[in-house]
Amino acid sequence: MLKKAVCCIASLLFAAGAQAQPYLFNRAPLEEVSYAELPLGAIRPEGWLKEQLKRQADGLTGHLDEIYPEVMGPDNAWLGGEGDAWERGPYWLDGLLPLAYQLDDAALKEKAQVWVEAMLASQREDGFFGPSEDRSDVPGLQRGNAQDWWPRMVALKVLKQYYMATGDERVPEMMDRYFHYQAATLPHKPLDHWTDWGKWRGGDNLMMVYWLYNLNGDRMLPSLGEWIHQQTAPWTGYFRDGFIFREPGDVHTVNLAHGLKEPIVHNQFAHDGGESIAPVEALGGHMGKTVAFPTGLWAGDEMLQMGAPTRGSELCTAVEAMFSLEEILRITGTPFWADYLERVAYNALPAQIDPAFMTRQYYQQVNQVACTREHRDFSTIHGDTDVVFGTLTGYPCCLSNMHQGWPKFTQNLWYALPDGGLAALVYAPCSVTAKVADDAQVRISETTDYPFRDKITIRIEEVKSAAKSASFPLRFRIPTWSEGAEVKVNGKSSGSPHPGDIIILQKEWRKGDEITLVFPMHLETETYYEGACSVYRGPLLYALKMEEKWTEKPFAGDDLKYGRTYWEITSSSPWNYCLVPQESSCQVKESPMPAFPWTASAAPVTLTISARTLPGWKVVDQVHFNRNGLDDCGEKTKIELIPYGCTKLRIASFPVRWVKEE
Ligand SMILES: [Zn+2]
Repeated sequence: MLKKAVCCIASLLFAAGAQAQPYLFNRAPLEEVSYAELPLGAIRPEGWLKEQLKRQADGLTGHLDEIYPEVMGPDNAWLGGEGDAWERGPYWLDGLLPLAYQLDDAALKEKAQVWVEAMLASQREDGFFGPSEDRSDVPGLQRGNAQDWWPRMVALKVLKQYYMATGDERVPEMMDRYFHYQAATLPHKPLDHWTDWGKWRGGDNLMMVYWLYNLNGDRMLPSLGEWIHQQTAPWTGYFRDGFIFREPGDVHTVNLAHGLKEPIVHNQFAHDGGESIAPVEALGGHMGKTVAFPTGLWAGDEMLQMGAPTRGSELCTAVEAMFSLEEILRITGTPFWADYLERVAYNALPAQIDPAFMTRQYYQQVNQVACTREHRDFSTIHGDTDVVFGTLTGYPCCLSNMHQGWPKFTQNLWYALPDGGLAALVYAPCSVTAKVADDAQVRISETTDYPFRDKITIRIEEVKSAAKSASFPLRFRIPTWSEGAEVKVNGKSSGSPHPGDIIILQKEWRKGDEITLVFPMHLETETYYEGACSVYRGPLLYALKMEEKWTEKPFAGDDLKYGRTYWEITSSSPWNYCLVPQESSCQVKESPMPAFPWTASAAPVTLTISARTLPGWKVVDQVHFNRNGLDDCGEKTKIELIPYGCTKLRIASFPVRWVKEE
């Protein structure tokens, strides 16, 4: 049965410095969805998150055209040149553009604008846009398959964000022409006509079709959506049956990160509910028992593996999983997905990029006691450069694609609702300016050191309306891990919410009103591969703190394809410990909150826990952790754990041993 359309394009929002923008809710026959994205720039980073984004602007994201000119320079085919013609240029823009508007950085906006103008100007009469000419291979460039569907899916995401920042009407007009080209062409050139990436990642194409349909109501678009869905890999079936999670190597893990959202995106049209449930059931079932990592990601270097903690996970998997989770969260509004998104964002993402945002790893390991250029047992290897920190080490996709992670997370910190309210479902320091109630505008600050601290202060900073007040609902997620959460409005308790609730606070809000949220973070453990134990506190996974020695080394000869230099990280810290459940004890120590929290030396929280040495547990040939000798549990000791996202070397999946009572 078709549901009625939600009001669309009814409310207008004036973000600081931006033009009027609609809040875009689903239009029938798409299912009613409660949450809508705010215009880009309405949510501004503050606190540690602002420091993170500034480091991106000062680092690779703001300067990739200078650091990687052979691909991102003026000869890129997306700019009309004869160079790289595939995914890498659009990948960079997909993170550069939102960063530029969130920081209101004129120079970065200008860099992004050049690409946007070139994309718009490249459109042909038949609606096709972007590079069209295949050129011969040049080392380090991707010049073939220029007309492939896949890189256009990324370019569409870039253009949508540009529209969400500026309201430039050229974008929906251009996209509509392109989707008509796609409708005419897909029957004889399907999503996997040029390469098979489009087939796996069709959900990204589908979500853009629905977005434009909500904006312009072109009746052709839902039918195009069905073509795209039918040509996309059958993700719902994969999640239901689980057969791709039973043997190593059946699926590329970045495709899995894309595919996670496809059933839920398509269910907006299909309305059968079964599609929405399939990924949830798989994560708790097949995937949880086989391929899952404690970071929320999956073992896959690049092909999916059983979840041994010495397997890799690619940086593209982290940022694409986050993007999928953000889209899923906006559609479903379910606290389960918000918890999941925070787990990936606050653990996997910061661990894989250096603090200056100048280098990154291709693969990260959950148990990673050295980042060295030595052979490891990965399914796909690149000159054994996969775990060192560099620019082009491993493979260049991640250097191009890593930029979207934090900016898109920032964009999903607040949503609008059709009842004139706002919702915060994931938390980080920020401020938001939005239209609320009938015609009021509100500016709200969110002050917090979350995820390192349990307290969040939400303050109404300004209400623009005739009465200088406005009545509207504010919604907040109570994390599923938080027993005993407290919610206060102007100092008065507002009930005792349960974990996993979304609370609704409705009143006549005025300047100076303050809401405090306290989410007590309790110690918890989860079990992964071969019964190994991972320790959590609130949204953060904790890992063994190790001393880190960073050494820069040069590449030479053929290896220059991996960049000019790379960084190895080694340590003399012991790491071979096990946890003994009968002896568990833990002290929590909070250190002062630094400007930038994601380093081992500045980690804002330390857990001191009981453990035992495990002298027989060794690394053999830099590859396998020796499985022998795991039974000779050694002496009792105390070890320090810090947030996983602060570590570059660590153990986060601990063997568990039971000892005889003395
Ligand atoms: Zn990658």
